[in-house]
Amino acid sequence: MNIILLGPPGCGKGTQAKKISERYGLAHVSAGDLLRKAVAEKTGLGLKAKEYMDKGKLAPDELVIGLMKEKLSDNVLLDGFPRNLNQAAMLKNFFDVNAVLNIDVDFRILVKRLTGRRSCSCGTVYHVEYNPPEKENVCNKCGSRLYQRDDDRKEVVVKRLETYKKETAPLIEYYRENNKLKIVDGNGSIDETFRKICEILNNI
Ligand code: AMP
Repeated sequence: MNIILLGPPGCGKGTQAKKISERYGLAHVSAGDLLRKAVAEKTGLGLKAKEYMDKGKLAPDELVIGLMKEKLSDNVLLDGFPRNLNQAAMLKNFFDVNAVLNIDVDFRILVKRLTGRRSCSCGTVYHVEYNPPEKENVCNKCGSRLYQRDDDRKEVVVKRLETYKKETAPLIEYYRENNKLKIVDGNGSIDETFRKICEILNNI
């Protein structure tokens, strides 16, 4: 089973992707995580991508597609890819998708979720209000200090949401026309959203 997770920044793609991949035994392939790894390792690709990420823009297609191609096999959950129509058209050539889940969240909620998000280098994600760590700014799992992603700052968040509307939202129609689209209401809690996703995936 191959699944694509669509939705605006802050809709909970990363959080749900971790839960889905565990429950259904899928490999979680996150474009954003792969790019952040390249940035942290200061590879040529990473340095180039960072220029775009810091501005809330999409990294160039050829760069992201190259990175993703290596990771695609069967039983994959794609998170954050494709992010525009060109990437979707490319993906179609080498990846059969069973369902595309679009996690739908109110725009005002997205800004709050993104600016309050705190991340840990071990991959665990918190929110200052909705899902705080036991000790302020310290990861429950590994004890490392939490940080705010550069692109979770308010000015970049606004830009990322604009980029989403312009470039990524058209994918909703694209996959609807391909009869792959499933809409999930992601305004509720993490567990509520996950339950809705499982109802869909259990019927595929
Ligand atoms: P994310 O972690 O999914 O929110 O992605 C963080 C940032 O990485 C985005 O704002 C983009 O700058 C970049 N990025 C992630 N996925 C893609 C993609 N499929 N195409 C281009 N840029 C991407």
